[in-house]
Amino acid sequence: MAKRKIAVVGVGKIAIDQHLPVIDKSGDFEVAATVSNRMIQHRDLPVFRTQAELFKALPRVNLVAICTPPGVRHAYVREALAAGKDVLMEKPPTPSISELTDLISYARKQKRILFQTWHSRYNEAVDAARKILKRDGVRSARIDWRESVRKWHPGQEWVWEPGGFGVFDPGINALSIFTKIIPFPVFIDSAKLGFPGNRQTPIDVEIKFKSDAPGQPPMSAGFNWLEESGEVWTIRLETMRGDLLELEKGGTVLRVNGAPVIENPSEEYERIYEHFAKLLKKNKSEVSDAPLRLVADAFLLGARETLPDFHW
Ligand code: NAP
Repeated sequence: MAKRKIAVVGVGKIAIDQHLPVIDKSGDFEVAATVSNRMIQHRDLPVFRTQAELFKALPRVNLVAICTPPGVRHAYVREALAAGKDVLMEKPPTPSISELTDLISYARKQKRILFQTWHSRYNEAVDAARKILKRDGVRSARIDWRESVRKWHPGQEWVWEPGGFGVFDPGINALSIFTKIIPFPVFIDSAKLGFPGNRQTPIDVEIKFKSDAPGQPPMSAGFNWLEESGEVWTIRLETMRGDLLELEKGGTVLRVNGAPVIENPSEEYERIYEHFAKLLKKNKSEVSDAPLRLVADAFLLGARETLPDFHW
């Protein structure tokens, strides 16, 4: 079968690191064009400054991958759906729940496919942890997600603007795993959000979760963006049977009682595009709003603390 043509919209770090090279290797898709404010071309393929120009020039391109910052995503996705395109969108989906809800219902109205990606969910170790927790229950959970904003978002000012998520930009990856593997609904009990004095989004977050699960397991998370000694992307879970599960390296590794059970290289974006091909074949949208809801609730419930100014 011929490969499906897809345009990549917003040619920044993640488009260059993952989307474009992964689509180039894909058996299901090929890059048709890019849409880029700065007119960044992929190989010798066409580039357009706006989606409207793309849709006019290449009307047969029916798919777009929206890789912009979340603050502008709603407008891009709505424009693509209005033009009759199927849409894959990066995480975090939108800066508000109401914008995401609007996109879900608009995609339905337009009879188009909307696929909200959560890249950290696409790991075998995450699926294995989910199965174990479903069978054995949860006694406790602790998330530690620390990385360097300077390494992962070099010079990106949008992360510090309202709607830019701050350290929730990586933290929502942890929450996307957490909401996939925990076998009962979780809520924010309390949160502490640390904002640099000169910025609009948090750089350090501590969360306490609650649930109605048996035994009310203690569950918490800490996100920090000033970790310069390497990434800490770990979720530790104790089961009701007393086993210790450790999901490490962003969900690519699972240890049970210290022994590695699954240790895979990260192929999250390869799995995302395979999954998108399946959704298109089944004519089915997929959007999970649970991680965004927890972030929104943390902002609603969180106590604010002012931390030292941040400078690149
Ligand atoms: P980025 O490097 O800033 O790239 C975003 C691109 O979007 C820009 O380069 C720009 O490309 C385009 N854009 C359109 N409107 C924009 C605006 N108002 N402000 C800034 N850029 C605008 O960001 P990124 O790191 O690729 O992140 C993009 C999305 O991917 C975010 O939602 C992020 O959470 C997610 N993500 C990032 C990573 C990572 O490692 N950084 C990992 C996974 C997911 P043009 O000039 O080409 O239009």
